[in-house]
Amino acid sequence: QVKRSGGNGLRFFERTMNAASAERLALEADLRHAVERSELFLEYQPVVAAAGADIRGVEALVRWRHPHLGRLSPDRFIPLADESGLIGEVGAWVLGEAARQGRLWADQGLDLRVSVNVSAVQFSQPRLLETVSRALHDSGLAPAQLVLEITESSLMNDVESAVGMLRALKNMGVRVAVDDFGTGYSSLSYLKRLPIDIIKIDKSFVRDLGGDSRDVAIVRAIIALAGSLGMSTVAEGVESAAQADVLRAAGCDFFQGFHFSRPCAAEALVL
Ligand code: C2E
Ligand code: MG
Ligand code: MG
Ligand code: MG
Repeated sequence: QVKRSGGNGLRFFERTMNAASAERLALEADLRHAVERSELFLEYQPVVAAAGADIRGVEALVRWRHPHLGRLSPDRFIPLADESGLIGEVGAWVLGEAARQGRLWADQGLDLRVSVNVSAVQFSQPRLLETVSRALHDSGLAPAQLVLEITESSLMNDVESAVGMLRALKNMGVRVAVDDFGTGYSSLSYLKRLPIDIIKIDKSFVRDLGGDSRDVAIVRAIIALAGSLGMSTVAEGVESAAQADVLRAAGCDFFQGFHFSRPCAAEALVL
């Protein structure tokens, strides 16, 4: 029930809501043209081995160079793409571009896995299979070099369909990672049914490592679980050497975070 505080509260509320939805509509209209106008671009963040810290892979992260608003982060427009049906086109562009870059690195003799994020809506659409196979075919990237990151919550939306989609993807030879693990509501009994290669420990558990001993316990439990299910672990959001030390001692396999490198243009990566 809406509270009419002093008479003007509701009107103010409506006005700001209208402004917000007008802004959304405008952004959605712009997003319709973003791909064809080459306004999207990718940055890559290294994924390093816990032992030795050499770069084993990169995660592709999309950005939008908006003609008026400047650089927009994916949190500003991926949800919009999901809701408006534009995610198919945006997602296909990201996959194609990341696979093309991955192939370039392979041609330079670099052995890097390239991770690409798949949104909840994208993951629920059967045409994802076609999109992935086209990206692999057009680029010539080896399927085993491609990792698809799917958030825990999109996997748990509809577990039956998720199992089917994951099996189909695995049949193509690509690897699958659960992104933001620990923030959704996975039932552990589902986890064992899903053909997953990698668990990415959400950065909310990494942030207070060293300070909050409960987070250490959680991270240890996730790593032990992954190990016993035959999955490897990547810790996200590693910002300090102290966090890396705790994670290494807990047996985490790979690290990703500002402590090692910020996301940057492909040409700027030191590989
Ligand atoms: P994510 O997949 O969990 O990606 C990790 C996010 O954490 C990235 O934010 C990255 O820049 C940020 N990050 C990396 N290291 C650190 C660190 O040490 N500390 C902190 N605080 N943050 C760190 P970004 O690039 O803004 O992306 C946000 C989210 O947007 C991603 O989360 C992913 O869910 C989504 N996203 C990004 N690119 C794509 C894409 O191409 N397609 C789809 N569907 N989603 C994407
Ligand atoms: Mg990710
Ligand atoms: Mg994540
Ligand atoms: Mg995230």
